[in-house]
Order: sequence, then structure tokens, then C-alpha cells
Amino acid sequence: MKHVSLRAMIAVRLALIVLTVIFLISAASNVLINREFEKYIEQRQAREAGEMAVNLAHQYDNAFGQWNLDYVHGMGMYALNEGYVLRLYDADEAVLWDAENHDMTLCAQMMDAISMRMQERRPELQGNFVTHRFDLKHDGRVVGYLDVSYYSPYSLSESDFQFVEALNRILVGVGTVSLLGAIVMGWILASNISRPIQKTVEIAGRISQGNYSARFQESVRTRELFGLARAVNSMAESLERQEGLRRRLASDVAHELRTPLANVSSYLEAIIEGVWEPTAQRLQSCYDELGRLSLLVSDMERLQQVESGNLELHREDLLELAQAAAAQFGKQLEEKRLHCTVEGAHATALVDRGRLRQVLTNLIANAVKYTPEHGYVRIAVEERADTALIRVEDDGIGISPEDQKWIFERFYRADQSRNRKSGGAGIGLAIVKAIVEAHGGGVTVESQLGRGARFTVGLPKNGRKKA
Ligand code: ADP
Repeated sequence: MKHVSLRAMIAVRLALIVLTVIFLISAASNVLINREFEKYIEQRQAREAGEMAVNLAHQYDNAFGQWNLDYVHGMGMYALNEGYVLRLYDADEAVLWDAENHDMTLCAQMMDAISMRMQERRPELQGNFVTHRFDLKHDGRVVGYLDVSYYSPYSLSESDFQFVEALNRILVGVGTVSLLGAIVMGWILASNISRPIQKTVEIAGRISQGNYSARFQESVRTRELFGLARAVNSMAESLERQEGLRRRLASDVAHELRTPLANVSSYLEAIIEGVWEPTAQRLQSCYDELGRLSLLVSDMERLQQVESGNLELHREDLLELAQAAAAQFGKQLEEKRLHCTVEGAHATALVDRGRLRQVLTNLIANAVKYTPEHGYVRIAVEERADTALIRVEDDGIGISPEDQKWIFERFYRADQSRNRKSGGAGIGLAIVKAIVEAHGGGVTVESQLGRGARFTVGLPKNGRKKA
């Protein structure tokens, strides 16, 4: 299918709309103005004929019973020039003055000229000369009659036609100017709309080719286009982040596997070649390395399960769960001489017991891992209107604001070299986040470097709301 540019489409549509409106307005005004003008002419003709009759009636001299025929003649000739053919009768209907008899040629010329002009320009009227009779009254007595013939329904003089034509030309002129204006305006409007869209398409294209750093920079004033640009930008951001994580995942997995694998294989090689005695200590080293490997694999498996498995929800006492989870760490807490407390309300929520236990275990394990000796680990349960909160707080090494953004991503470790020694694979918090979000809740962190960290898990008390 051939695609039309947005700019051309809007410009053409706008021009079409304006054209239609102009056409309708011109047609309507043309018809109305012409009709009104013609009605006016028609009424004027009737009125003038009536006035002539009144005027002529005054030319009757009552005392002598005579007509002022000079005046009648003058007026008759004037009327003839204006398109009226007069014939005056006395009270006995004897003709006193007749334009046709008086100047037959002029009269015929005039009538032909009017008929021809009107038939040529207004053939649809099918007009004709029609005679109207008026009674001429003097002091209330009929003293004569006047026949006035004029072209009916109406006749327009040459200058009348010029006036109508000038009017039509003005309408056409206004229409043309408006149309051109509409095309230019449409073009500008369409450009304003299509430019950011084009730019967005271009950026989306660059993103689809793998350039995730492409961003929409220009300012856009339209709300919808601004939304579009922002959506594309945030899509690019999240793709960029995902891509970074994916790269890091590959390199981290490789790195995590490489060291223990290399260690184990070098130990075994030395033992096979007889360089080393297979002492219990050396075999234990191999065993420990293999243990780290299976821990990593099981961490990844667990994450995978959390992200795909279904939850088995039951109402559980969160304080009891927290106490049980903390109890697991008795030995480590004692070794590091950490002070651990579990306190708060017996808040209940619909949760998957096993998975929530995992959340608590991971958070407490981190608190223990990242808190130096003699520190504290505080676990608190709080009940709110619709949610239950679990806080796990320590006064350990803390997390920098920059790292706080990423720690919930899998394989992210705040300080790579520092943490590699501590053995974590950077999956613990990713598991926490996945489980909590599967419950319809959320997890946040508050921390300052060197001042400890506080993780808050919020869970809806009545389980996940159906979307
Ligand atoms: P890991 O297995 O490395 O602990 P996690 O996903 O559990 O992985 O944590 C990610 C990173 O977040 C850790 O490497 C660590 O840098 C940081 N972190 C998590 N919990 C804490 C905490 N309580 N105090 C300081 N840093 C923490």
C-alpha cells in the first residue's frame, strides 16, 4: 500500500474542508444576495409604477377638466428611458397620451433591449412585458387611468448587472485568498505535527538497529507528541539498561564459573599428575569450589522459578515468619557478634509462605553479610490499612545512591571486587524483588554509604489485586 505523508494528508484535507466551506458560503451568499437584490428591484419597479400614477393624477386640472399634457409627455419620455411604457386614458378610457404611439421606434428599441438583455442573462426567468393598470384619482374622483408596462418579474439595467458581477467577483476573490491561506496554514500545521513524529520514527529506527543511546532531545509542545517522545525515550532507556544487564550477566556468569572451574581443574590436574597428594584439605578445597558453583546455579534456578511459578497464597503471621527466618541465622549472628531484634505487630497477609521466607532469608543474609562485627540487625513488622510492612535494617557498610538504583537487578553487586570475596552472585535482591512483585507488593531501600541500610517490603494484606 502506498503511504501518504502526514503533512500532505493534513494539508489536502484542510484545504478540502476550507474549499467546501467556501463553496457553501459563496453559493449561499450568492444565491441570497442575488435573490434579495432581485426582490428589491421587483419591489422598486412596482413602487415606481405606483408613484408615477400618483404623480400623473396631479396633472389633472380639476377646474378646467384638463390634463397638463406637456408634463405627461415629459414624464412619459423619462419613464420610457427607465424601462416603463406609459399610456394615459381619461375617465372615459379614451387614450390621451401613449408612449408607443408617440415614439414607436424608441419604444420598440427600449423594449427589445430590455427583453434581449434579460433573456440573455436570466433566461430561466422567462420574463415578459406586463401591463398594470392604475386608477388616477383627483379629490377622490377617478379622473383617468394609467397603464404602465414593464418587464416582469423584474429587469436589471446594465449597471445593475455590473453591480451583481462585482459582488460575485469579491466573493470569488475572498474564497481564493482563504483557500490559499488554508493550504499554507495546513502545511505549517502539518509540518509542526509531522516533524516530531518523523523524528520519533527515526529514533525508533535507530533503537531497533541496536543504538540504544538514541534519545529524543527536541522540545515538543503537543501533549500527545510529548507523551510519544517520552515513551520512546523511556523504552530506549530500559532497552539500554537491559542490554547492559544482559552483557553483564554473560560476563558475570562466565566469570563466576571460570574461577572455581579453573581452581578445581588445576587441583585435580596436579593430583592426577602426581604433583600433589590428594590430601583431605585439597579435596575439601575442590569440594568448596564446587559448592560455590552449585550455589550459583541454584540461585539462578530459584530466580527462574520465582519469575515463572505460581504462588500458593495463605494467610500468614508475618511477625512469626520473620522470627523463624531470623532464627536460622543464630550461628552467623553469634560469630559476628551482631545484635538482632525482631519486633512489631502480628500483621497477617495472603502470602506464599515458602517464598516469603526466601525474601526474609535473603534480606537478613545481606544485612549479616554487609554489617561489621558488633553491629545490629533490626527486623520490624508494621500494619497499615491495606498493607503490611516488613523492615530489615542494619548499621553496616550501606549502599551509595548510585548503586541503590541497580541493586535489585540480577547480578548487580555494589562493589564488584569487594563483594566477590563475600561470595554473593548478586541474585539475592533480584529474587526478593521478583517474589514481592509477584505478591502485588513492592520493595524499597533507604541507605547512606557507611551508615547502614534499611529495606522495606510492602505487601497487600489481601493478596494481589486482579488487574
Ligand atoms: P549478593 O549476593 O551480592 O549479596 P544481592 O542481590 O543480595 O547480591 O545484593 C546486591 C548488592 O546489593 C550486594 O552485592 C551489595 O553490594 C548490596 N547490598 C545488599 N544488601 C545490602 C546491605 N544490607 N548493606 C549493604 N549493601 C547491600
